[in-house]
Amino acid sequence: MILRAAWTGLAALALASAAGATPALSLWRLDCGRITAFDLDEFSDTRAYVGQHKELTASCYLIRHGDTYMLWDTGLPRALRNHVMDAKQPLDAALTVTIVDQLATLGIKPEQVQIVAISHDHFDHIGQAGDFPQAKLLMGKADIDTLRAPGAELGKLVAHWLTGGGTIEPITGDKDIFGDGSVVMLAMPGHTPGHHALLVKLAHKGNVLLSGDTAHFAKNYASNGVPSYNADRADTLASLDRFKKLAANLHATVIIQHEPADVAKLPAFPKAAD
Ligand SMILES: [Zn+2]
Repeated sequence: MILRAAWTGLAALALASAAGATPALSLWRLDCGRITAFDLDEFSDTRAYVGQHKELTASCYLIRHGDTYMLWDTGLPRALRNHVMDAKQPLDAALTVTIVDQLATLGIKPEQVQIVAISHDHFDHIGQAGDFPQAKLLMGKADIDTLRAPGAELGKLVAHWLTGGGTIEPITGDKDIFGDGSVVMLAMPGHTPGHHALLVKLAHKGNVLLSGDTAHFAKNYASNGVPSYNADRADTLASLDRFKKLAANLHATVIIQHEPADVAKLPAFPKAAD
């Protein structure tokens, strides 16, 4: 059975190379909002940030694979556009520009996006998914189950798919999205049970690892910090270990999606990395 699976895999690889390898791949960073942690304490279950605050960014990514456009994460909801932040909250968030507006700058219509893949079920990642109802939605099965649970408020943001209006693919383990190894969802549970990161293999820039919320900023990535609101501490540490070893072995550019300092690791919009 194992041999058979290996042989099928080899055959698929041989066919892919015979067909002329991977189609052209491009990666754009989109602005998907700002988050201010007025109280950073909840980003550490070992009290590493008591009394600190931090500006975070929210990012989404557009990927073109041949003729197919896909999004990785969909940022904060439109409802937070021009929201005035409240410093009395431990955390608040605001959106300046929508994904649809940014796609328009590139001359891309929302209906051209065929795949929306999402790292996890939190509001700052599923916020604008509803603007792409024709797209197939890919998300970890455990997170889809969370959104489907009775009383799950955030389910409203992706109700189109949860109620059978759109195609949804629950992901268990890793998912090679185009079947050629160029864009791969990587199972990184811990922040949420169904959480994923994304590997993008660009021809010139090389391998890029988009973190999802495997870590939230450079300091807690470096220190293997675990936010107190993560679903599972042991899974978080195991995922950080996997993520860091993949980054080393693949010589990947690591982009922590909420880290403002990592914005500069990709070309400034509307330019793309390829
Ligand atoms: Zn997040």
